[in-house]
Amino acid sequence: MPDAIAQLAEVKAKIAAAERAAEREPGSVTLVAVSKTFDAEAIRPVLEVGHRIFGENRVQEAEGKWPALKAEFTDIELHLIGPLQSNKAKQAVALFDVLETVDRDRIAAEIAREIAKQGKAPRLYVQVNTGSEPQKAGIEPTEAVAFVARCRDVHGLAIEGLMCIPPLEENPGPHFALLEKLAHQAGLSKLSMGMSADYETAIAFGATSVRVGSAIFGAR
Ligand SMILES: *Cc1c(COP(=O)(O)O)cnc(C)c1O
Repeated sequence: MPDAIAQLAEVKAKIAAAERAAEREPGSVTLVAVSKTFDAEAIRPVLEVGHRIFGENRVQEAEGKWPALKAEFTDIELHLIGPLQSNKAKQAVALFDVLETVDRDRIAAEIAREIAKQGKAPRLYVQVNTGSEPQKAGIEPTEAVAFVARCRDVHGLAIEGLMCIPPLEENPGPHFALLEKLAHQAGLSKLSMGMSADYETAIAFGATSVRVGSAIFGAR
């Protein structure tokens, strides 16, 4: 897997260049390396060169590989970036350090319950369905600001930022701009947006974290 190490370095260099181009602070963009579908053997080299922030989209898959890797390497920060089912809230709160896909009251309530029970509070993002795609998770853009307020006022949850996955066939720029606008309206400063195909664009639109999978680990 030496490829992943070279590709990680290349992605980091491109992030640094995109930060400069956008006149953003060096290091202001966090790289979440998306390791879904790759096993521990493929992930380990990336840990060995010092990368610590990873994203997974399925709770069950993550449970199969990350507890052992967390025991082996310190300071791992694991992000859940896939849809969150309320019957998985317990496992998600136990395993993940950041949940990026809070998108409805039922989930918010379950997460709040688990945080109280487990005494462990992952950092939280609200996922916004910026393209209003029927098959996609995320709260509708028109409801996002009110939902962030309800997370705080009704569920007692601190929301750190917003996350989106633009529609596959569309120019992502307007979706990134919409997410930035909604975050501003909601009083949030963190934006999780941009994947392998468009993370440099996302940085130009203000992404504070990008979620990059195939550009690091290869095709899935
Ligand atoms: C898979 C995935 C990514 C990474 O996608 P790549 O195109 O491989 O970089 C980012 N975000 C989410 C939510 C994903 O499911």
